[in-house]
Amino acid sequence: MPGILVYASIVCDAVSMPTREILGAARGVAAKTGEPVSAALLGSGISSLTQDLIEAGADSVHVCDNEKLWEFHANAYLKVLADIAASVNPRMIIFPGEAAAIELAPRLAHRLKGGLITDCIGFEVREDAVIFTKPVYGSKALARMRVDGPTALVTVRPRTQEPFGPDQNRKGDVVTVETALGDIAPETRTVERVEEEVFECILEEANVVVSGGRGMKDPESFQQLRELATLLNGAMGATRVAVDQGMVPPSCQIGLTGKIVAPEVYFAVGISGASQHIAGMSGSKYIVAINSDPDAPIFSISNVGVVEDYRNVMPTLIDELRKALA
Ligand SMILES: Cc1cc2nc3c(=O)[nH]c(=O)nc-3n(C[C@H](O)[C@H](O)[C@H](O)COP(=O)(O)OP(=O)(O)OC[C@H]3O[C@@H](n4cnc5c(N)ncnc54)[C@H](O)[C@@H]3O)c2cc1C
Repeated sequence: MPGILVYASIVCDAVSMPTREILGAARGVAAKTGEPVSAALLGSGISSLTQDLIEAGADSVHVCDNEKLWEFHANAYLKVLADIAASVNPRMIIFPGEAAAIELAPRLAHRLKGGLITDCIGFEVREDAVIFTKPVYGSKALARMRVDGPTALVTVRPRTQEPFGPDQNRKGDVVTVETALGDIAPETRTVERVEEEVFECILEEANVVVSGGRGMKDPESFQQLRELATLLNGAMGATRVAVDQGMVPPSCQIGLTGKIVAPEVYFAVGISGASQHIAGMSGSKYIVAINSDPDAPIFSISNVGVVEDYRNVMPTLIDELRKALA
C-alpha cells in the first residue's frame, strides 16, 4: 500500500504545531483508506523527537540526523527528502505551510514529476482519490482539486487541521536514513538572525488575535489593542496599511502578503475588510468588528459588528473584561 509521507518541521527544538496538524490530516485520510502514515524528520540532534511524531500520528519515522542539516539548506534537505520519498514511495506527501517546507515542496514535486497543491485547507476522500480544497481569488472562492499523477504533494495552511492525539500508547518504527551529503554545497549562507518581535504569543498560533487598521490612526492607539490581546492571552495583528504607515512592525501584518491566522476569536478594529486582508484571517472562527462606517465590508463576514468609533468602545471593553477576569 503506497501510503502518506508527512514532512516534519522543527521549531525551537520541538515538533511544530503545523506538523502536528498535518499528521492529524494524514490520520484522517488514513482512517478511510487504511494507508500507513510516515514522517520524514531531518535536522541535526533531532533523533529524540521520533517518539513525539509517533505519538502525534506517524506509523513510522524516517530520520536523517546529520550535522550538515543543522540549518535549512534547500539542496541538502531536498536530497534527503527525495531519498526518503524513493524508499517510502508515497502517493501523497504533505508539508506544513511554513517557509522552509514551502520552498521544498515545489522542488520535490519537480523532481518526482508529481502534482503540487499549495495552501490546502481541506482533505476529502472520495472512493480512491483525495480531493483537496484551497482558497482562490484572494479567498473569495474555494477550489476543489485532484492530482492525477502518481504523487500528490500538498502544502497545508496552518490551523486548518485538527492535530491527532498525542497518544502515548502509540508505537511505530524508526528508520535511519544515511544520505551522503558530502558533495552538497550550501547554496545560501545565513549572515545574521534577527529575532521577530513577538507580542505575548506567536501570531499564527494565537487563539485570540486583536488587529488594527488605518482607522487606529497612530502607533499609540495600538497600545489599547495590545492591552486587550494581553488580557485575552492573545496576539496583536494589523493590516498592511497600518504596517506601511509605521504604526506596528511588519511581523504583525495579516493578509495575502502577510501572515495567515485562524484564531478562535478575531477582533478587527478600524479595518475596512479588504479582500487582501480577509485572505489572511477568514479562517477565524468568530469575528468581532469595530468600525465607524456601517457599510464597511468587514461587517459582511463578522459575527458581531459594532458600528462606532473604536475610541468609544475599547476602554469600556477593556475595563469590563478586566473586571470579569479579576
Ligand atoms: C497586492 C496587494 C497585497 C496586499 N496585501 C495585503 C495584506 O497582506 N494585508 C492587508 O491588510 N492588506 C493588504 N493589501 C492592502 C489592502 O488592499 C487594503 O488596502 C488594506 O487591507 C486596508 O487596510 P485598512 O483596513 O487598515 O485601511 P482602510 O481600508 O483605509 O480602512 C480603515 C477603516 O477604518 C475605519 N475607521 C476609521 N476611523 C475609525 C474609528 N475612529 N473607529 C473605528 N473605525 C474607524 C474606516 O471606516 C475604514 O473602514 C494588499 C494590497 C495589494 C494590492
